[in-house]
Amino acid sequence: MAKVKHLLGISGGKDSAALSIYMSQKYPELDIEYYTCDTGKELKETYDLIGRLNSVLGRDIELYKSMDEDNSPMKNPFDHFLAMYGGYLPSATARWCTNKMKLQPFETYVSDEPTISYVGIRGDENREGYISKKENIQTIFPFRKNIWSEDVIKKLLINSNMEMVKAYYQEYANKNVLPNALQYVEQLISPKFTQTQKLNALMDVDLKLFNKVVFEFLKTTDYPIGKLNEFPLIENDEIIGLDDVFQILEESGVGIPAYYKPIEYQVEIDGEIKKGTYSRSRSGCFFCFYQQKIEWVWLLEQHPELYAKAIEYEKEGYSWMAERLEDLEKPERVASIKKEHFLRMNRQKKKSRTGQSWQDDILEAEGEGCASCFI
Ligand code: SF4
Repeated sequence: MAKVKHLLGISGGKDSAALSIYMSQKYPELDIEYYTCDTGKELKETYDLIGRLNSVLGRDIELYKSMDEDNSPMKNPFDHFLAMYGGYLPSATARWCTNKMKLQPFETYVSDEPTISYVGIRGDENREGYISKKENIQTIFPFRKNIWSEDVIKKLLINSNMEMVKAYYQEYANKNVLPNALQYVEQLISPKFTQTQKLNALMDVDLKLFNKVVFEFLKTTDYPIGKLNEFPLIENDEIIGLDDVFQILEESGVGIPAYYKPIEYQVEIDGEIKKGTYSRSRSGCFFCFYQQKIEWVWLLEQHPELYAKAIEYEKEGYSWMAERLEDLEKPERVASIKKEHFLRMNRQKKKSRTGQSWQDDILEAEGEGCASCFI
């Protein structure tokens, strides 16, 4: 059997932190290497979280470097690459920052070795996350019901593989389950029965059986998991959502990253003083262009020195978003952002999923952004 690496990237966000604890506790037999890629511009709260994780995981979190600090005048990854890009600030459409400081160091470290990368996208999210284009890297999502990546599912369920999948089910399903499973296996994918519907139907019939079939199929491919004798996650039928993530962090003693803690602010609305709360909904660089306006206000009021540094990066023609930070920090603009936020949060509270508006705020803010930085 070829040696397969198991890697888990820790961004400093809650989900990857919880995933590292979950995997270390539930699958101690897997030799997982934990790593982080530092941009040099994270919040202190993020570095604190990684420090606490180090002791809970019982092994060091490796730092995958994106640059040789001794040979750059900038001494800091973000500033080094910003200089290389001629001061051109990254944005959602030109995200050189993630590419240079997160993805490339990871792929350089992996090189050509077969590697399984564990990613903490939760069971209550509807997104796929980063999938490496390198064929020797396979991504697994342990928190989801469907732990496999889209490319694996597509290759397995393609109509031309129907007879092969049927043979696996005939070999591994017990006789009570088989007829139910086969009615879906034999139904070809079409506009009336999509790949997603077929996937969900097969998982609903028997999740562990479906995972077993995927595992056997992977043995016929070059995917890293196909090189393993066994893969314990095929027996996993837990689905981990936001509440579970917070519970894992609390129970482990690592705790919730401090920037999520709601902080009270006051705002005047129609002559009345109202009290709302704000927090930061994500890890990542303090100046990240994905943050919401209220998060910029949080940065301004909770970390004014970092806000001032974020302003220093804004030069003529380059800004973090359409509105310049020098305009956003004006008192009347801060008040209007708080007002808009307060009213929105109050509307949401009425139809809240959790009854806790700050958790709903996180869920909403997660829609945007980059899995490598915020998971
Ligand atoms: S946190 Fe934001 S600015 Fe920092 S690397 Fe990620 S996407 Fe880029």
